[in-house]
Amino acid sequence: MPAVAYLSRNRQKALFHYSLTSFLLLCPLIAQAKLHVVATLPDLGSLAREIGKEKIDIVVLAKPNDDPHFIDPRPDFVASLHDADVLIDAGAGLEVGWLPPLLEKARNPQLGIGKSGRVKASQGIRLMNIPTTVTRASDAHPSGNPHFIVDPVVAKTIAQRIAKSFTALDPSNAAFYDANCKKFETAIDAKLQWWRGAFQLLQDQHVAAYHDSWPYFAHRFGLKIDIFLEPSPGNPPTPSHLTEVIQKMKRDHIKLILVEPYQDRRIAEKVARSTEATVVEVSQFPGGMPGTDNYTSVVNQLVKLLADAMK
Ligand SMILES: [Zn+2]
Repeated sequence: MPAVAYLSRNRQKALFHYSLTSFLLLCPLIAQAKLHVVATLPDLGSLAREIGKEKIDIVVLAKPNDDPHFIDPRPDFVASLHDADVLIDAGAGLEVGWLPPLLEKARNPQLGIGKSGRVKASQGIRLMNIPTTVTRASDAHPSGNPHFIVDPVVAKTIAQRIAKSFTALDPSNAAFYDANCKKFETAIDAKLQWWRGAFQLLQDQHVAAYHDSWPYFAHRFGLKIDIFLEPSPGNPPTPSHLTEVIQKMKRDHIKLILVEPYQDRRIAEKVARSTEATVVEVSQFPGGMPGTDNYTSVVNQLVKLLADAMK
């Protein structure tokens, strides 16, 4: 056997062993590689955690007490979006004031509309309160109301779409994502009856709110949260509008005003003093109120706070 051929075969063997050892060493890393997920808002982040659990790393851009319409972008948002395998956003104009410039800077083609790495929650959702006339540029709901995630039946649909995205990008854990999604849906279904029951005797009562955040929640549970301290979504209350609100609240005996952590509670208190109403602080986001660390606990708390205050 020629010496050259012998050496070459030895080198081939060595190379084969090196490759095999490297592969075996890397296997656990490959098996444990997590999906990098970015959610724009804490409620979407909670749904992603329900589905992905330990198989994902997640960054949530907005804090629980941020106004979801107006987030101050931080430089690390761009880096997170650049590295992301999946982006979950609400859509329907909710993040239109701050997300598009970040996505442009992040230059991540995986997050494009229609890609497996993009879950735009509003797709397939029938939006409520779509304006019939041209709205002011400052209106925060120009294409319809974007606060649909707080409806738990809608949340189940979003959870399914998140599971589909995770499965497409990480098919080896398809059964895991599917099982977690079903578990979440079962948990929501188990609660729905109790949530509906809590509002059973409160169907015709009207409630006021600072911002129009609750039409989907109200529709789901047969409530009427339909008078707002803001003259239009995202525009601050004016004295003339508040005068109208006070007159209407007195006339219709509205005794409850919902205010979220990032809204001006002093204005709500002022209206409450003129109408003998009660101000109730609520949040649509996990972590926005004490005792709400996930999506289901947010809905649970909302139902309890509202039902107790309306009785
Ligand atoms: Zn809004």
